[in-house]
Amino acid sequence: MLVCTWKVACVSMGVFDFTPLHLEAAVSLRLGLTLLSLGPLAVACSQVARNELMRRLDHAVNHDFLTSTLARGAFLAQGQRLLERLHRQAVPSAVLMLDIDHFKRVNDRHGHPAGDALLCALAQTVSQVLRPQDLLGRMGGEEFAVLLPGVPAATAQQVATRICTAVRDQRLALPGGAVLQATVSIGLVLTDGSPQTLEELLHAADAALYQAKAGGRDRWQLNLARADLAVSPLA
Ligand code: GH3
Ligand code: MG
Ligand code: MG
Repeated sequence: MLVCTWKVACVSMGVFDFTPLHLEAAVSLRLGLTLLSLGPLAVACSQVARNELMRRLDHAVNHDFLTSTLARGAFLAQGQRLLERLHRQAVPSAVLMLDIDHFKRVNDRHGHPAGDALLCALAQTVSQVLRPQDLLGRMGGEEFAVLLPGVPAATAQQVATRICTAVRDQRLALPGGAVLQATVSIGLVLTDGSPQTLEELLHAADAALYQAKAGGRDRWQLNLARADLAVSPLA
């Protein structure tokens, strides 16, 4: 940039002799200037393209391709890091396991693409209930997990209720005219900030989810082994 600026200044101040007698030197100087300017521009362009590629690659690796929620591996890694930080600060948190009720029927009656559309709609509905700092990941099939950092028991139970309500109220119109309505069952586990791995909490939430299914679906169930942390039930 300095060389180019210096040359442009020299040309405008008449330092270089650009009379027809020195035409060759003038052409060569201009070509040189052009090449000097193009070099950094080319490097900058390739750097921007590379950064964009890296960003897309990072998103593809860490996110579920269908629902754009966190992929299982990314959820576990990010969630574990977050939990460890919260444990150090003794901050309470909650983990939820979500499973769409009778999802197989949707595939059987309306086809796999309709099931896929329902998965996307559900992921969007659930993420609208959550705060930006909450983590939502697809654990596989029609199962999702949520980590609510820094929430007391009462708030966690309110969030679980809001998710059940939001999913129940959601309507998904299919191209053929049919309208899908879904419900979700949720297993909920609370942590008071004592050291527990995310895997352990997910396991506990999964056990509660099993109870929510057995209890009739379209509901949340607190893991009773951790019920000492709960306040009065809200649903
Ligand atoms: P329950 O209420 O007990 O959870 O019943 P369910 O029918 O939801 O559960 P089940 O485990 O019997 O069926 C899950 C179905 O989810 C079976 C499988 O074909 C479907 N599935 C898993 N992944 C996908 C996917 O990515 N897209 C679609 N469309 N279906 C999927
Ligand atoms: Mg399932
Ligand atoms: Mg299911």
